[in-house]
Amino acid sequence: MTIKLLAPDVANAIAAGEVVERPASVVKELVENALDAGARRVTVDIQGAGRTVIRVADDGAGIPSGELRLAFLRHATSKLSTREDLAAIGSLGFRGEALASIAAVADVECRSRGARIRVRGGAVLEEGAAPDAPGTVIEVRDLFASTPARLKFLRSEAVEVAACVQALSSYALVYPEVRFALTVGERRQFSTPGDGDPAAAAAAIHGAAVARELLRVAGEAVGGLVSQPRLHRSSRDGILLAVNRRPVSSRSLTYALEECYSGRLERGRHPVAILDISVPLDEVDVNVHPAKREVRFRQEGAVFAAVQRSVRDALQETRAYELRLDEPRIERPSMAPSTHSAPALLVTEPVTAVTAESAPLRPLGQVGDGYLVAESPDGVLLIDQHAAHERVLYNRFLARLRGAAGISQPLLLPVVVDLEPRQLAALADHSAELTAAGFSVAEFGPAQARIEAAPAETPAGRVAEALAQALTAFADARSGESLEAAAASLACHSAVRFGDVLDSSEQRRLLDELEVAPESVTCPHGRPTRLVLSWPELKRHFRRNY
Ligand code: ADP
Ligand code: MG
Repeated sequence: MTIKLLAPDVANAIAAGEVVERPASVVKELVENALDAGARRVTVDIQGAGRTVIRVADDGAGIPSGELRLAFLRHATSKLSTREDLAAIGSLGFRGEALASIAAVADVECRSRGARIRVRGGAVLEEGAAPDAPGTVIEVRDLFASTPARLKFLRSEAVEVAACVQALSSYALVYPEVRFALTVGERRQFSTPGDGDPAAAAAAIHGAAVARELLRVAGEAVGGLVSQPRLHRSSRDGILLAVNRRPVSSRSLTYALEECYSGRLERGRHPVAILDISVPLDEVDVNVHPAKREVRFRQEGAVFAAVQRSVRDALQETRAYELRLDEPRIERPSMAPSTHSAPALLVTEPVTAVTAESAPLRPLGQVGDGYLVAESPDGVLLIDQHAAHERVLYNRFLARLRGAAGISQPLLLPVVVDLEPRQLAALADHSAELTAAGFSVAEFGPAQARIEAAPAETPAGRVAEALAQALTAFADARSGESLEAAAASLACHSAVRFGDVLDSSEQRRLLDELEVAPESVTCPHGRPTRLVLSWPELKRHFRRNY
């Protein structure tokens, strides 16, 4: 075949492919333009899952009538002029490609500042006057009608609509001072108040029940909202990261965020978060991805650390779950009760600074096979004894695995445990940590180990299981999380179980320890340890006004 220079419409359609993958890309680009124009109000209407019509109206600065045609040319932009500008990009757009790309694969009409233009397949069809209204309206019709290959790659209508909703939600969450509204077909999908309050935007997008569970992040360079550990999701869809108010996807920053929840969330569960990271413009390169979805940092480590510091600070504010007597509860996975019935020994750490007078919980008894009832200055508490003990022991085991010395108890009869090769490897790799935790383990035959002593907290009958599970946790955990995972399994296998009968002194000891335990609101898997029925709530319910 001979080499030919492609005709402009073909070249444009190819370039458009990078920017305009699907209807949601159109929504994203048009909304970015509205925000760059300083809009305080952005209204999006979608018909036919974005294939029939995508209409974005804003009240921003608008396009001067003499420049309408120019705006649709490739590499025409008002946001950048020199190469140096590229090193410090403060606007969402900068390549001058979006309008040209969209108009290459759709029929686009734009009205702004008294003028209008219609462009289809890259060619100007109509130009003229329009009513002089503030802002800009862009209507995109028949997306991909002339590029059947693209159409074939679109997913179902529901999936494409969901992507549009997700795209607009991201900006609505990061720009709470702007009023956003999205209508899909005849249905109003969401609208945000635009009052500048991130929690109000989050309530509009995620619902009030979720918004109530969000903690404010107010770090030096990192702001936003993150969920308390008791709220979690099975996917990462609720995680939104932005850099200088540009929504981005970043595996490493997502990892930084999620690592803050280790020891607080079950495996496979993910937090809800909206985080905006402020980075000096010349420290971040946004020109690395065709859809500007990824960014590169000059000092990624420093950004990573800033995210972790700010999120960890916010998580200190984790609150106990309060029962509202007339509100629906947030759904959480249920906890499988164990059937074990022998009472386990509650070993108290000798160094714990707890005395009978200090922590303010008064135990009243045990109900329903595994809940402790207590009274505190805040109200009446129900405590899940297993979850509470798990939290206390988790903190303790984690400190030991990190080097604090524990109390070891020799076993009357050493226990032999069968181990798989990966568990044996973990045993060799982590023997120092396990010794600190209180284990004394000797190799015993090719696939076995002999446990001679165990942490004083671990009941003798569960020593083998506790060690085997801790070794599995060591072997399976992502690097950087292995100590937390091992501590969680030791705690789980050592804690009193649901169904164990605790006498009053054991109840008191557990409550005392729980009161001073950091992060005591949830167990290491993120399940709540307690439910508070507050005095004001009780008063309200019984309509007592004194
Ligand atoms: P970029 O955003 O990278 O500059 P676009 O192709 O998205 O490129 O837009 C081209 C130009 O058109 C912008 O630089 C801007 O000047 C103008 N423009 C586009 N949309 C709007 C809008 N909604 N309001 C004001 N000006 C706009
Ligand atoms: Mg743009």
